[in-house]
Amino acid sequence: MVQDILLSYTMVSINKFKIMSNENKSIHEFDFNLICEYFSSIERQGPGSPEITRKALSFIDHLTDKSHIADIGCGTGGQTMVLGQNINGSITGIDLFPIFIDLFNSNASKLNLQNRVKGIVGSMDKLPFRNEELDLIWSEGAIYNIGFERGLNEWRKFIKKGGYIAVTEISWFTEERPAEIDEFWQDAYPEISTISKKVAQMQKAGYIPVAAFTLPEDCWIKHFYAPQVKAQEIFLKKYAGNKTAEEFIANQQHEAQLYNKYKEYYGYVFYIGRKI
Ligand code: SAH
Repeated sequence: MVQDILLSYTMVSINKFKIMSNENKSIHEFDFNLICEYFSSIERQGPGSPEITRKALSFIDHLTDKSHIADIGCGTGGQTMVLGQNINGSITGIDLFPIFIDLFNSNASKLNLQNRVKGIVGSMDKLPFRNEELDLIWSEGAIYNIGFERGLNEWRKFIKKGGYIAVTEISWFTEERPAEIDEFWQDAYPEISTISKKVAQMQKAGYIPVAAFTLPEDCWIKHFYAPQVKAQEIFLKKYAGNKTAEEFIANQQHEAQLYNKYKEYYGYVFYIGRKI
């Protein structure tokens, strides 16, 4: 049972964490600790890069030192620190896992951003904000945990009129694709869809689509998969003989192989919208 859930969880987790708070209870705590330990040993928990975070930020107008930004599913804060260094407002990072939030806050302190960039433990399906409190909602590689459409709809009320949302989401680049990758993703994340459909969903949810651009391969290969090679070596040495750990790593490797084989058919897309 635990193994089943863990497997399906890692399958979904190309970017990485398919864990809703209400599903947590069924997974043994050890498995969580294991997975968290693995992902906290790398700088990013999903594909992305500082350049791409800055590019997405270039589409957002009117941010000042009074602005309030939320980074949802922030992980250890790879992208949040880039935001903090490029804008002057205050940023609240939210993630389900205390271990990530601890690392997030120590990363903020190391960069002397702790007065404006703060991480808190919380769930994206129960955000602790007031209506129209936020100038910008950011979320890289995390909205799929509640689903793209649901996230866009439910988070909208927290954004001020004229404020922005910027999220990355796995998307198909082509109308058709080989069965192997199609089945993998239909199983892992049935909401995966083409870029034009995602843009239409954004518009339907009450945002003006401002930009949609694909993340280049280096966001996956250089910034996400490459750092995992060393992390996997260390992890497998530490947990030698542990079936759960070995299976978990085998899944990560399978995902990376699939990406390399089929990267022309899918990837992450940054979707940026302005609330109307
Ligand atoms: N934004 C980071 C992390 C992406 S991985 C990056 O790009 O590096 C997805 C993150 O979503 C993980 O840190 C995971 O812990 C978090 N997460 C999963 N379910 C969540 C939920 N219900 N509420 C808040 N965070 C969640």
